[in-house]
Amino acid sequence: MYDVVISGAGPSGSQCAEVLAKAGYKVALVEKDANWRKPCGGAIHSSVLNLYPQLKKLDYPKIVGVVMHSADYHKLEFKGVGEEYSIIMDRLELDNIMKDAAVDAGADFYDKNLSFDFISKNQKKIGIKTKTPIGIKEYHGNLIIIADGMSSKLAIKSGIRSKWKINELAIGKCAIMRGDNQLDNEFVYVYFKSYQGYGWIFPLGNKKFNIGVFTFGIDNTKYNIHNVYQEFLDNPNIKKYIPDLNYKIMWSSAYSFPAEGVLEKSLYSDNLMLVGDAGGFVSPISGEGIQTAIISGKVAAETAIKALQEEDYSITSLKKYKTHLEIKNIIRNFKLKRSMIKFFFENNGKKFNKMLEVSENDLDFRKQLVNMFSFGEIPSRDFLTKISD
Ligand SMILES: Cc1cc2nc3c(=O)[nH]c(=O)nc-3n(C[C@H](O)[C@H](O)[C@H](O)COP(=O)(O)OP(=O)(O)OC[C@H]3O[C@@H](n4cnc5c(N)ncnc54)[C@H](O)[C@@H]3O)c2cc1C
Repeated sequence: MYDVVISGAGPSGSQCAEVLAKAGYKVALVEKDANWRKPCGGAIHSSVLNLYPQLKKLDYPKIVGVVMHSADYHKLEFKGVGEEYSIIMDRLELDNIMKDAAVDAGADFYDKNLSFDFISKNQKKIGIKTKTPIGIKEYHGNLIIIADGMSSKLAIKSGIRSKWKINELAIGKCAIMRGDNQLDNEFVYVYFKSYQGYGWIFPLGNKKFNIGVFTFGIDNTKYNIHNVYQEFLDNPNIKKYIPDLNYKIMWSSAYSFPAEGVLEKSLYSDNLMLVGDAGGFVSPISGEGIQTAIISGKVAAETAIKALQEEDYSITSLKKYKTHLEIKNIIRNFKLKRSMIKFFFENNGKKFNKMLEVSENDLDFRKQLVNMFSFGEIPSRDFLTKISD
């Protein structure tokens, strides 16, 4: 019998397990396969490094700037201000570091356990069932945290939310490659397109880079991700940075993530909380979800600690998860981004083309554009007039 059972040892589940174990609670962290490399760009905001100082010791380049391209290849290059930066990591390494931190804090880790259903008693969910190489196993707990990503079976079986529809998802394909390249290790390279989504090249240092594309919303059905990926690799504008024809592909894969952000009504129920991708904690437009997965895992753990202290696991007690300031801020930020989707991708990317074109010669416009990307600042009326048709 555990205080908390967590399904999924990605960033959200491992952070949740670590916080609970550090507070002295008995935690089971259940994972289908710790050797699975999650398809991901691996871009991580520096605030994550405050929770995981061990990441600071790794030899990944500090990214301080962005080179952004429109579909017609106008270019906007800018550096961030202040102390903030990103690192790009291999997800297998990142996930194992976070899982190990949870285990070091005292969580019990169970690998090769695929959770597929709940154990119920008197209409309450009191545990989960998993498939393992030696048969079905059961884990009982006062609370269950669903942290097993966008394809979570438990999230749907819980009745908290339904399966994502194809136009609520983003579909991505990416690779880690190695070879001589012209990338500046301080920058990420982003390519907006005529479809909803973008392509990226993220330097990993040591001649390695992560390269990929994603589409989202209605464009998932209009475009085939494998073709979009191949066109991106073959594009002459990309080849400027990676001219070699013989890159070693170290790993490549395709996967999806929820593209619309958190569905506020679908985060918790009696005894249950959804965190990370399972709860929709991925930023619309940019597709960043690692940092918000970790925050949701941390806040869910703090909510669980209160519930355990008061021995109240009801939906009323767990409401504190959704109303926590950090979660409210994420939901607000995602709402703003969601409302900007049309603005960015209107007219097959033509508005975005115009934005980068105007920014090349107009300093004030450029400043507003950078502030919009960096801080989510709303541009002025004059800015909007300059890009209206
Ligand atoms: C192509 C692509 C590129 C991306 N690039 C970025 C980026 O550059 N930066 C960024 O911040 N975000 C990025 N994201 C989003 C980011 O990957 C996710 O938001 C983040 O990984 C969510 O963490 P999580 O812990 O919620 O879920 P996950 O990382 O998906 O972890 C879920 C865990 O649960 C396990 N699991 C799954 N099913 C079961 C089961 N039935 N039983 C037990 N365990 C199970 C999985 O093996 C996994 O370990 C990208 C996503 C994609 C698809």
